[in-house]
Amino acid sequence: MTLAEQAATLLERMGARMGHGDLACVSPIDGSTLGCVAQASTAQVKEAAAAAHCAFLAWRSVPAPRRGELVRLLGEELRAHKDDLGQLVSLEVGKVLSEGLGEVQEMIDICDFAVGLSRQLHGLTISSERPEHRMMEQWHPLGVVGIVTAFNFPVAVWAWNAALALVCGNALVWKPSEKAPLCALAVQALFERAVARFGGAPDGLSKLVIGAREGGEALVDNPGVALVSATGSVAMGRAVGPRVAARFGRSVLELGGNNAAIVAPSADLDLALRGVAFAAMGTAGQRCTTLRRLFVHDGVYDPFAARLKAAYASVTIGDPLEPGTLVGPLIDEGAFAAMQRALSDARDLGGIVHGGERVARAGVYVRPALVEMSEQVGPVLDETFAPILYVMRYTDLDSAVALNNTVAQGLSSAIFTTDLREAELFVAAGGSDCGIANVNIGTSGAEIGGAFGGEKETGGGRESGSDSWRAYMRRATNTINYGRTLPLAQGVSFEL
Ligand code: NAD
Repeated sequence: MTLAEQAATLLERMGARMGHGDLACVSPIDGSTLGCVAQASTAQVKEAAAAAHCAFLAWRSVPAPRRGELVRLLGEELRAHKDDLGQLVSLEVGKVLSEGLGEVQEMIDICDFAVGLSRQLHGLTISSERPEHRMMEQWHPLGVVGIVTAFNFPVAVWAWNAALALVCGNALVWKPSEKAPLCALAVQALFERAVARFGGAPDGLSKLVIGAREGGEALVDNPGVALVSATGSVAMGRAVGPRVAARFGRSVLELGGNNAAIVAPSADLDLALRGVAFAAMGTAGQRCTTLRRLFVHDGVYDPFAARLKAAYASVTIGDPLEPGTLVGPLIDEGAFAAMQRALSDARDLGGIVHGGERVARAGVYVRPALVEMSEQVGPVLDETFAPILYVMRYTDLDSAVALNNTVAQGLSSAIFTTDLREAELFVAAGGSDCGIANVNIGTSGAEIGGAFGGEKETGGGRESGSDSWRAYMRRATNTINYGRTLPLAQGVSFEL
């Protein structure tokens, strides 16, 4: 079977159809075209947002635990089609199969989380300074949530947003990456199946609009979209943030990272090697949390760097659907060009490059690159969305933490150490400035139970677990007077 035939079969099993249109869906596995899909016009995006708004007006009054039932059914559909959707992720964006399946598992996990959450959307009660008064906070549904997603997590990021937003009483419009529309069609079809089994959900509760940047812009500028949750590059966030703010809309921005890890002298080097290798080479370096900078203590640098070089030289690169492959393709030629530019800049600055060369086969395959640098300069300061790990020496932990924090982004970070003091220092207020700071775990592969996101140019948004749900609701403060007098706050007098 060709890849196109495989994609068509998977879509059919999930109840989706490709249709016809002018957006070509290209598989990075071999560069072949999987099919073509139709793109939504700006007018159609507007119609989708209007339909979602009508749905919101009904959905917000459905009791939250009942809303949770729809998300539970969605989780069931995802469980039933985990293999199909996981394979489609591999076909469309080139993830190795276990990562494609892992992404669907993440969707299932957030559905489970959101079902429980649907019975816990709680507010505070607060003591009033006035007698016979009570203050409380309520969290109400917000409105239409516009979800703009990146190519590298073509299904999980939608689920992080959608599962929470739905139990919170909102309606959705999803603009997926133009590089992964088939995954979006499949997810939409599974959602429709859940809606059919649920019975009685309003029409238009979750709309899909396929297209490129213009589709995202139409959501960003639409005053009927209460919250824009946008995942992608810093450049995208720089455009989206001010435009949503200009109309006083809300945004959750989940942008690029330039993540670092420290290997301390006391580190368990076997564990550190696996942690570093997965974080830096996994997903062919195409995760927002990919490890891009490594600071290794001078005392362990030589043996650790030698083992790392051996791992880089021997890692299995190839078809992501083949068992045993650890590194699949880059998404496209643009990613390869950006990688080669960064490597060339690093060489010009004295970097010693190991690997990074193209692997001869259809598609865009590269050997991950390890670059020994004497300083954190030039391309080391940027996120290049490809498998490049810059390795540097350090001698004292304070300076390594300062280097961790020097870059413009603040998503993920890690330290490998068995020294309790070093570990605690790294996660303390004066340690890593990132949204994620790990100990003896790499920078990537977060669980859904925690809030996910980062600081500085990573955008400041939080999605997924903990209390991230609050971003999808509006807070109302209610003061209730159950007495027969009207005392004013702060002792103000106003006698008629
Ligand atoms: P991208 O910025 O090119 O595109 C992301 C999405 O934004 C796409 O759907 C695109 O069509 C849309 N878009 C682009 N410009 C827009 C604009 N001006 N207005 C509205 N929408 C716009 O990113 P990509 O190449 O698909 O993904 C890779 C990037 O995403 C990396 O920088 C990576 O770090 C980041 N990322 C971040 C997270 C996170 O949670 N922090 C997760 C995944 C990916």
